[in-house]
This record gives sequence, C-alpha cells and structure tokens, in this order.
Amino acid sequence: MSTHLHQHSSFKQYFLNLFHAIYTTVKGMYITFSYVWGVKVVSIEYPEVREVLPARARMRLFNDAENCISCTQCAMACPVDCIYIASEKMPEGAEIKKTTSGSPIRLLLTQFTIDTALCCYCGLCTTVCPTECLTHSHDYEFAQYTIDAMKYDYLAPDVRAWRDRIVKA
Ligand code: SF4
Ligand code: SF4
Repeated sequence: MSTHLHQHSSFKQYFLNLFHAIYTTVKGMYITFSYVWGVKVVSIEYPEVREVLPARARMRLFNDAENCISCTQCAMACPVDCIYIASEKMPEGAEIKKTTSGSPIRLLLTQFTIDTALCCYCGLCTTVCPTECLTHSHDYEFAQYTIDAMKYDYLAPDVRAWRDRIVKA
C-alpha cells in the first residue's frame, strides 16, 4: 500500500516538474521574443549604411588653407594646444592675395598642423577664426594605426586631397 502511494506521488511530482519546466521556458521565451519583435531597431549596417549627422556635428577639423591668414587665433584659443602654425613674411614684391571674404593675406602660411589625437572637438578654434576657414567637417572615418599619424598637416598633398573630397561632398 505504501509503495503504491509513493509511486503515485512520484508520478504527480514528475508531471508537476514537467509542467513547471514548460511553463518557465514559455514564459522566458515570451519575454525574449517580446524584445525581439517589439524593440525599435537602432543599429545600422555600417559601412553600407551611414547615418546622416546633425548639421552642427563636430568631426574632423577642416582647414581651407587658401583662406587662412595665419593669425594664430585658433591656436591661442585651443585648450589643449594641438594646433601648430608657422608663417613667414610674404616675399618682397609678392602679390597680396585676399581670402574669399576679402581679408588680405599678408603672411605666407608654411605650416598648419592639427594633432587630432589631442583634439577634444570643443570647437573653440572654429569659433574664433576670423575668415571662417577652419571648420568641423562631418568626416569621422579617420582612424589611424599610430598616434603620430593623427597629426594632420593641412598643407601636405594627402590632406589637401582629403580637403578636396570634403569640399565636393
Ligand atoms: S576643436 Fe578644440 S581641442 Fe580641437 S583643435 Fe579646436 S580648439 Fe583645439
Ligand atoms: S584662426 Fe583661422 S585664419 Fe587664423 S590661423 Fe587659425 S585657421 Fe588661420
């Protein structure tokens, strides 16, 4: 008799366990799938798809060096001193060109380098630039393998080619 009762309760426990296992699995999967189906997709298939950045997004700095008057205001405003500028007097008798906004270019810009590894994208340099030649582009794809390669010489041919692409974009 007692063996019969014992068998009965084990049988009952077996089905209770089975029911519990199915119930908790279904409940868990319901929570999982409610996220899969209900959630708003926020990721994109980069690089095939690129997000359009907000108009005032601050990405890699762009110096339209032909309009730079070597005033160094940007370098003085920079809180991390990552803008390196050198200039010299225009050669005797050289034609004094003007920027597109009409400012005379009295100095010859010989170096304009920004160490983007140090830059904190604060935008102060662009704010003070009197000719508005220094701006933030929307280019965020400029990862490099070394820290040194993050120093961009804006008079170098490769950076000038990049500038030309940015202007056309
Ligand atoms: S964005 Fe800020 S940190 Fe970067 S170069 Fe300009 S002033 Fe310096
Ligand atoms: S503030 Fe503008 S014009 Fe003056 S040196 Fe910097 S980039 Fe050139």
